[in-house]
Amino acid sequence: MIRPTRAVEAIPATTPFIGPEQLMRETGRRELVRLGANESAFGPSPRAIEAMRGELTRLSWYGDPESLDLRDALAKKHRCSPEQIAVGSGIDDLMGLAVRAFLAPGDAALSTRGTYPTFDYHVVGYGARPIAAQYLDDGTPDCEALLSLARRDAPRIVYLANPDNPSGRFIARAEIQRFCAALPHDTLLLLDEAYADFVDEEELLPLAFEDRLIRLRTFSKAYGMAGARIGYALSSARNVATFQKIRLHYGVNRNAQVGALSSLYDEEFRRHVVAETALARADYYRVARALGRSYIESRTNFVCINFDTAERATRVMNELLARGVWIRKPGAPPLDAYVRVSAGTEPMRRAFESALRAVLAGAQVEVP
Ligand SMILES: *Cc1c(COP(=O)(O)O)cnc(C)c1O
Repeated sequence: MIRPTRAVEAIPATTPFIGPEQLMRETGRRELVRLGANESAFGPSPRAIEAMRGELTRLSWYGDPESLDLRDALAKKHRCSPEQIAVGSGIDDLMGLAVRAFLAPGDAALSTRGTYPTFDYHVVGYGARPIAAQYLDDGTPDCEALLSLARRDAPRIVYLANPDNPSGRFIARAEIQRFCAALPHDTLLLLDEAYADFVDEEELLPLAFEDRLIRLRTFSKAYGMAGARIGYALSSARNVATFQKIRLHYGVNRNAQVGALSSLYDEEFRRHVVAETALARADYYRVARALGRSYIESRTNFVCINFDTAERATRVMNELLARGVWIRKPGAPPLDAYVRVSAGTEPMRRAFESALRAVLAGAQVEVP
């Protein structure tokens, strides 16, 4: 009999992300206001678009399997060597490499229950054992709880997103430094910094290229290239060499390489996106306050708004979808009472606000 591995067979047939395209098929809508996946509403850099357009005719070629031009440019940016950088088709891909490289079947891997799900998705897929700490009541990942589980259960990898998704919370440099230092010395910290580009560099953990630390960055968020699928890992040359052994050598497409490289040289555009994103967050805070809702101050390109119970937050999400506005909500407590809305352009935010006002004015969701 042909069977998948026991680990894979045990996985329930669920999809980690239901995409807006599927929701459009299900609701019969031709368009949605896309505020559910923390994609950039501000697009890729015009310079990146131009470079990718110019490169289109060369799509008949494979990309450089070493992504060396991009790694050279990234090495300058991060003041390190290209040997300390691995490029992959997004953080999601690189997380899979880390899990495959460092976790044997049955090994424990620690994260926060309800955080960005792809890490656990890989852990389960490779037959390792996910364990989790809870969020603090205010939605911040609980470093103390992570540390005590790390000491008790000796996971090979600890995953932490900072800034965090879905909370938007950010753990300050000094605390992350303490956290790193306090982790058992043979534990690998997989630090997901998908939203690092929205935070000042001086606030982030200082760059260090050690075996026990892998930091993950992406062009999907501030650089607006989610559909191109490209991201990178910063770590020791040894870990990068390990990734080299198992990564898909043509997994990063040529257009993404070209676009990412041009984006890096368009710092003015990144700053523009970061400023627009801050305006969008402030706008959502205002909407939440006007509706008598609390929210979490975010350091990312999304905001969580509190609807007090998971049932009510789910209803708000579903009724917004019925009005053509696509958002998501966190799945685990304490954040499951919130909805999460991505930074949109001004017209997208107005569409969100008026749909939300209509939903709350309707009979289904009582306003306080
Ligand atoms: C969006 C996101 C990712 C996915 O990044 P890709 O580079 O697009 O794979 C990873 N981690 C977090 C926390 C995210 O929010």
